[in-house]
Amino acid sequence: MIVVLLGPPGAGKGTQGERIAAALGVPKIATGDVLRAAVKAGTPLGLEAKGFMDRGDLVPDAVILGIMKEALAQPAQAAGVILDGVVRTVPQAEGLAQVTREIGKRVDVVLVFDIADELLVARLSGRTTCDKTQKPFTGLTPGQPCPDACGGTLVRRADDEPEAIRNRLRVYQAQTAPVLDWYVAQGANVQRIDAAGSFDDVTARALRAVGR
Ligand code: AMP
Repeated sequence: MIVVLLGPPGAGKGTQGERIAAALGVPKIATGDVLRAAVKAGTPLGLEAKGFMDRGDLVPDAVILGIMKEALAQPAQAAGVILDGVVRTVPQAEGLAQVTREIGKRVDVVLVFDIADELLVARLSGRTTCDKTQKPFTGLTPGQPCPDACGGTLVRRADDEPEAIRNRLRVYQAQTAPVLDWYVAQGANVQRIDAAGSFDDVTARALRAVGR
């Protein structure tokens, strides 16, 4: 089963994506994680992506399509995959449709996380992330050791600073919201869930929406 997670930054796609992936027994791919790892490793991909990411702008479609193609070709994805933040523009959605066609598959569910902007800003501005596992935490201070005792340190993402957050929300409205209309026009299986509430409540809604 291929599931595309759509929704603004801070809507919980990462956390819920992990839970859905575990429940379905399939991997999750997040282009944001792939790009952050590349930035940390200082690879050519990371050097190209860093400026866009720090400002909260989108990395060019051609870069994302390359990551998407490579990721979907992995054998681990045979049973399906949860795509978190992988599709953020209409050309990327078209590219994904082509890549999935080429491997004899299709997007089974487009899961849309609905949430109010005020909640997003509050969540993102109070967020820290483990520099090792990229797991997000709320209400903790940058610089402290990761509570999971994984050896990582909590950091504040450059794009969780107020100006970058505002830009990411603008970018979402301008470039990613039209992806939802595109999927609806294609007759895709679009499922909307209320993304406010406890982790467990949202997971339950998400699993119902993907048919579990
Ligand atoms: P995320 O971790 O999903 O919030 O992504 C962090 C940043 O990585 C975004 O603000 C973009 O700069 C970049 N990024 C991640 N996925 C994509 C994508 N599909 N298209 C363009 N840029 C992306």
